Amino acid sequence: MSHKTPILITGGAGFIGSHVVRLFVNSYPEYHIYNLDALTYAGNLENLIDVENAANYTFIKGDITNESFINNLFEKYKFQKVIHLAAESHVDRSIEDPLAFVRTNVIGTMILLNAFNRLWSSNFNNKLFYHVSTDEVYGTLGEDGLFTETTAYDPNSPYSASKASSDHFVRAYGETYGLPYVITNCSNNYGQNQFPEKLIPLFINNIINKKPLPVYGDGNYTRDWLYVKDHAKAIDLVFHNGKQGDTYNIGGFNEWKNIDLVKLLCKQMDFKLNRKVGDSEQLITYVKDRPGHDLRYAIDASKIKNELGWKPSVTFEEGLDKTIDWYLNNKKWLNNVTSGLYQTYYQKQYS
Ligand code: NAD
Repeated sequence: MSHKTPILITGGAGFIGSHVVRLFVNSYPEYHIYNLDALTYAGNLENLIDVENAANYTFIKGDITNESFINNLFEKYKFQKVIHLAAESHVDRSIEDPLAFVRTNVIGTMILLNAFNRLWSSNFNNKLFYHVSTDEVYGTLGEDGLFTETTAYDPNSPYSASKASSDHFVRAYGETYGLPYVITNCSNNYGQNQFPEKLIPLFINNIINKKPLPVYGDGNYTRDWLYVKDHAKAIDLVFHNGKQGDTYNIGGFNEWKNIDLVKLLCKQMDFKLNRKVGDSEQLITYVKDRPGHDLRYAIDASKIKNELGWKPSVTFEEGLDKTIDWYLNNKKWLNNVTSGLYQTYYQKQYS
């Protein structure tokens, strides 16, 4: 029997989860990391090839909505701490199929909470349920202002409503059963291994293939962007030093209007691909707006900065540069995930 602390990370084969798994496997030999993932279209074990044989790592294929399976897993491995990232994560898909988001994001989270609660309620010492969430739960901002940890929840999409609901359940289990938890609400992530349905990898892939760049509405939607490895570091810090029963906002101090971001990306891609300056911008195509589209998200991340000393380690330009290089150097990864079912999804979404 191993004496390492058993830690469960859910959704570890996805974009952010794979960066968290790698960071924890490499940084903490005293933990055993169990990565539980259903391997939906968004999960990809190729993201973790470099750690798959590590002595302190085990992959488990499974679905968080399968209650008896999850209960047995907690009984078997006695996970002392959980970092819960598994989710349906794409807003556009949530508009198509909201129920799938309730199943995984709400029911799945509750099944994990119940299993954790049942196992440890007699002694919560040194236990933690960490829920990774989004700034989208706060709804939309106007031209001014920032989301803080006390901003009222006001979700507008089925995705953000499902994440808001799961946040509420985590907090309610803390209040009702004394379950030790922490929640972080983070802004838009970008970086290597992100599935090319999200803006930055979608556009990198389309620029490579000289395909149209579909910009919603007038392109004035504003988002805060954070490099995924900086998010993983923030999760590490909150996991180890965050206050139990508390929430932290995580953001990049880095607001961009979509259209300005796309133009910056086009410029960097023209340079990398040795194309004429302005070539990629010609691919920009304005498309019909997403229903319920939030105008602006912006995060006040001063709490995590002041209390835990976290701040992003790279500028947006540096992070974008690393991201583009990774996609250009990993065409096989990109081709693998953009074949098959991706084509069906893409046609439906953008034609
Ligand atoms: P992702 O879609 O890339 O990965 C999700 C992972 O969860 C996949 O590996 C998938 O296979 C797995 N999964 C889905 N349903 C499952 C189920 N029923 N059982 C087990 N595994 C399942 O998502 P991501 O972008 O890496 O986001 C991870 C988490 O971070 C999510 O909870 C998301 O809400 C949150 N978040 C994401 C962002 C962002 O910008 N991407 C920002 C803030 C918060």
